[in-house]
This record gives sequence, structure tokens and C-alpha cells, in this order.
Amino acid sequence: MTEAHRPLSGQKAIVTGASSGIGAGIARAFARAGAAVGINYRSGRDAAEALVEEIFREGGEAIALGADVSDEAQVQAMFGAFLGAFGRLDILVANSGIQQDAPFAEMTAAQWRRVIDVNLTGQFLCAREAVRTFLAQGAASDGPSRAAGKIVCMSSVHDVIPWAGHANYAASKGGVAMLVKTLAQELAEKRIRVNAISPGAIRTPINREAWETAEAEARLLALIPYGRIGEPEDVAEAAIWLASDASDYVVGTTLYVDGGMTLYPAFRGNG
Ligand code: NAP
Repeated sequence: MTEAHRPLSGQKAIVTGASSGIGAGIARAFARAGAAVGINYRSGRDAAEALVEEIFREGGEAIALGADVSDEAQVQAMFGAFLGAFGRLDILVANSGIQQDAPFAEMTAAQWRRVIDVNLTGQFLCAREAVRTFLAQGAASDGPSRAAGKIVCMSSVHDVIPWAGHANYAASKGGVAMLVKTLAQELAEKRIRVNAISPGAIRTPINREAWETAEAEARLLALIPYGRIGEPEDVAEAAIWLASDASDYVVGTTLYVDGGMTLYPAFRGNG
């Protein structure tokens, strides 16, 4: 990749939940785009370390960072370890997320809390640490990009599409949507840009049962006007753009990377 194609050159980024799926795709793409990357994992240490090795082999810089994003002390230790290794932070991609699905009448309080803890409180804790770091680093002119810092939160099309059987997940992502807008409004004057990506159906372990059989894939494709399931690389391209100076005037938006899933596909053919 030429320098012109390395839009994150010299920047330092933490990607949470980068041991798998979308986060791993973003970490790999960020490294190729020139960023040094902190690869956060919770249980997938081997996968995170393998990705660090892969990035080294390609001439990039990375470090594996174990932390449960729902745990305040672990999040603070993770940012400390990252700053110890790379000295500054320019980008946070708050991507870690889980599903614990159940019909609403059967959903336990533990399932509700765990999903809110990881998907929403985890984003709060990581974003707060990132903002504290950006503010401590000071004026944008000192850093490698026009903004003083960038945060990209991983939301979901289920921040606008209700999802039966997933009340905890949909509520967590609806919360992320307002968290992002509010942070963006509050922090823009500090030249900190906060935006979100809302993926549709992306082929990762989180939704394996939705695409691994031909029947399941056909049901899923009926919801996607563009006619294919998304790949982590589709989301990574959007994350690079939102984290780079190419989107310097983009503040508080949610970019839907969903093949048209939010376009009420059930209405196709009724025009
Ligand atoms: P995935 O392959 O299951 O990856 C989830 C990642 O989150 C893993 O790296 C996992 O780490 C990490 N994680 C889970 N709990 C954590 C915790 N407590 N602390 C730190 N990390 C934790 O799923 P994915 O599809 O890539 O999902 C990534 C994000 O995209 C999620 O926020 C999800 O809601 C969102 N999303 C996905 C889709 C989709 O279709 N795939 C659509 C919309 C939104 P370990 O494995 O190391 O524990």
C-alpha cells in the first residue's frame, strides 16, 4: 500500500473485541492503513495474539490487550497498557458486543444485564477512557490527524429495527445510538469526533446460525436488498473512513453498512 493509501499513517488505535469477526477485520485493515493497533480480547487470547503476529509479518504494529470492557478497572488498565506501548491514542473503535437471546417472557435479569453491561456500559467505559486520553493529549495540531481524537462505536441496524427475541440487544444498541449523538454534541468543541457504524448482517461467529445452512442463508438474504451477506471488510472500510481525516467534518452520524436492510425490504414488489 502506498502512503496515499495509508490514511491512518502514524495513528494509534484501540479496537475492542478484535479477537473475532468485525473487530478483527477492522484491526487488520487499520494496520494496513498505517495505524498501530491495540487488539482487545476477552476470552480469545490465542486469536488476538495470532492477529498480532499476522500484523507484524505484514510490517505493521500491534499489541494484544486482554480486558472485559464491562469492567471499569480492566478498561483503565487496558488503556494504560496501550499508552505504555504506543505513547498516545488517536482512535477508539468500541466494537465489543454479545447476544444472549430469549423470548421476552423468558429473558432472565442476568441475560438482560450482561448484554447491557457489555454492549452499552462497555462502550461508555471505553469511550470515557478515550476522551480522557484525548483531552490530556491536548490540541489537535500536536497530533497526526486534524481531530484531537476519533471514536467509532459499533451499533447495529437494531438501533432502528425492532428485533423480537432480542430485547436486551436491541435496547443496548438503541442506547448506543443516543450515547454517540450525545457524546458527539458534547465533545465536538474539543475537536473530538464521535460517530457510529450500524452493520446489517455480517458473516461472523455472532450470527453463525443465520447463515451457515442454505435455508437459513436464503431467509437472511430475503432481508437484504443488495443480495449478499456482508463481510467484516465491508465494515472495516467504513471504519477507516470514519477514523481518517477524509471524514473530518462528519460528527455524530451513524453510517448504516447493511446492504439496504433498513429499507423495509418486505415492501419490495408492492410499488
Ligand atoms: P463476534 O465475532 O462474536 O465478536 C465479538 C467480539 O467481542 C469478540 O472479539 C469478543 O471477544 C468481544 N467481546 C465479547 N464480550 C466482551 C467483553 N466483555 N469484553 C471485551 N470484549 C468482548 O461478533 P461480531 O459480529 O464481530 O460483533 C462485533 C460487533 O458488531 C458487536 O458489537 C455486534 O453487536 C456488532 N454487530 C454485528 C453484526 C453482525 O451481523 N455480525 C451486525 C450488527 C452489529 P472474545 O471472543 O475474545 O471473548
